Amino acid sequence: MIGLGVECTAHTLGVGVVKNGKIIANERESYTTEKGGIIPMQAAKHHEKVFDNVLERVLRKTRLRLDAFNFIAISIGPGLAPCLLIGLKKAKQLCRKFKLPLVPVNHCVAHLEIGRLTKAKDPVMLYASGANTQVIAYESGKYRVFGETLDIGVGNFIDTFARYAGIGFPGGPAIEKLASGSKAPQAYAKEAREPLQGPEKSSSKIPTKGNYIELPYKVKGMDVALSGILTNLRQKLESGSLRDDSSEPKYNLKDLAYSMQETVFAMLVETAERALAHTGKKELLLGGGVACNSRLQEMCKIMCKERGAKFFCPPNSLLTDNGFMIAYTGEILYKNGDYIKPEDIDTIDIAPRQRTDQVEIKYK
Ligand code: AMP
Ligand code: MG
Repeated sequence: MIGLGVECTAHTLGVGVVKNGKIIANERESYTTEKGGIIPMQAAKHHEKVFDNVLERVLRKTRLRLDAFNFIAISIGPGLAPCLLIGLKKAKQLCRKFKLPLVPVNHCVAHLEIGRLTKAKDPVMLYASGANTQVIAYESGKYRVFGETLDIGVGNFIDTFARYAGIGFPGGPAIEKLASGSKAPQAYAKEAREPLQGPEKSSSKIPTKGNYIELPYKVKGMDVALSGILTNLRQKLESGSLRDDSSEPKYNLKDLAYSMQETVFAMLVETAERALAHTGKKELLLGGGVACNSRLQEMCKIMCKERGAKFFCPPNSLLTDNGFMIAYTGEILYKNGDYIKPEDIDTIDIAPRQRTDQVEIKYK
């Protein structure tokens, strides 16, 4: 069995190929900016422009013709409507031309399912992505959302912070690099390995390697709130010098990047730990583009070690949006009979706001 997957929910146009659960190809082109965030219509134009080239690269690499495929899987949501429309249009054109079934896939479920490759069996998943930030676990026919952001997704939050600092999209990798350059002041360099938040917190035995600047910490049960922290960071970025006669900024961007990561990742890890405790599950799976951050991975590892849970994280190439995760999930659905025959594909539309817990999981 061989299937094609198309990812087209936001910044990335990805085309991947799965063969019996194995990766055969995974090509992509991402929309980026020098300054400012994603403009949905421009991202959609980007995807339309690069689609044929990315598909061609995949077919050349695999030496396959499209009529050799069993199905085409497409991410129908959640995501930016203009981008989703391009992906669905292209996928439908190919299905019609080659008489192939279409497999609609929920993007978030694909981020979860790809975790199977790590050998995680029944994990709690910390899904830290651009627009989505959720703590998810499977329970009675659905992936249930145990906690989530109450306002913006953590990736969008980091990208917006980066934008305020004059960094283009995506901001996450640049912010991670800046954060690693923050230095603890001489005064407490000796104590740099002291816990960040007090001895009572299990996820707090985290070395303070940089210059930590206090930020609001907003965990509500298993949910997090990020917009207040963003405002606080913006105010700090824009605040002038302590001394009126200097044009030096009061806060160093490296220190703010470092403090942002320490605070916000600690919040995410806390909610994931609560979900582990609540569900009694013993595995944590990290997913989504923000999961590429090595500090977030490190914090998750520490928390899991402390509570005797196993930690799993797919490789970076499968963490950020990609076509293979759609093909992989598409194969699971196709094998279960969850596909649309070529003559019925016009019944399928995009679902820009489809939530993880709206999708019925019939194959588990
Ligand atoms: P996704 O929507 O799952 O593809 O994830 C994209 C998001 O991941 C964007 O907001 C990026 O800024 C963010 N991201 C990618 N790499 C990193 C990183 N190393 N650290 C933090 N965020 C990152
Ligand atoms: Mg994603």
